[in-house]
Amino acid sequence: MVIVIFFIAQWYFSIFSQTFLQHRYAAHRSFTMNRFWERFFYVFAWISQGATYMSPRAYAVMHRMHHAYADTPKDPHSPSNHKNMFAMMENTRKMYTACYWDNIEVEKRFKKDVPDWPWFDAWADSRIAKVIWVLFYVAFYIFFATSPWLYLLLPISILMNPAHAVMVNWFGHKIGYRNYALKNTSTNLYPFDIFFLGESYHNDHHRNPSSINMGVRWFEIDITYYIILFFSKIGIVKLAGSKAKNEHERDLDLAESIVNPVLLKGLKPEKVIA
Ligand SMILES: [Zn+2]
Ligand SMILES: [Zn+2]
Repeated sequence: MVIVIFFIAQWYFSIFSQTFLQHRYAAHRSFTMNRFWERFFYVFAWISQGATYMSPRAYAVMHRMHHAYADTPKDPHSPSNHKNMFAMMENTRKMYTACYWDNIEVEKRFKKDVPDWPWFDAWADSRIAKVIWVLFYVAFYIFFATSPWLYLLLPISILMNPAHAVMVNWFGHKIGYRNYALKNTSTNLYPFDIFFLGESYHNDHHRNPSSINMGVRWFEIDITYYIILFFSKIGIVKLAGSKAKNEHERDLDLAESIVNPVLLKGLKPEKVIA
């Protein structure tokens, strides 16, 4: 029971950190925070993502590349470029490392206005910190596992963050439905979004990358959106005004326009909105 509660808590805190900090805050600047809260959520992300914590700076650079070049050879993680999800995962890891160490030349807009906490990332993303986390997970499972079956959860506990990312990036470009006819293969994964806190309304997100609400239809409930609204009410975050948002969107040029559905080869947009 302890293991199951630990696993569920780890699952939701980790995906929340990814969508809130690395994705919506760092990559898309959908809202702002003061220095204290920014650092609070860095530490929160490190604790919840553990061995697979990702630097918000490097994540943001790589993720903007995905939006700008989705499903082209320049996309760091497109199912169209890889024969299986493990190959895509490995390529994502390589691209993330290259972005982290600045070993790859990227467009200026991908680095524009990304948060950075270098010494914290140097520790949180270090090999030694990862080894400590893995030892902790193994010890935790040994101590609390009441059945050998529970050890099946251990690899996911260790690889929590990439496990989430690959599910959204693989299936969110493969199965599901589309609200918008875009020139990439992005889809929405409702009703499975209950496991992803808004992250899997991926087609909606490609259309409006800096929107704080990732769902557009009434049933596409984005739990993180409501958490952000609550945080804004109590002063933890500030929502970007529409003028700032438009300028940001224009500078990054990541929002996608709707294309004529007949131009989409083999992709049938269902219930296309516009
Ligand atoms: Zn995508
Ligand atoms: Zn995004």
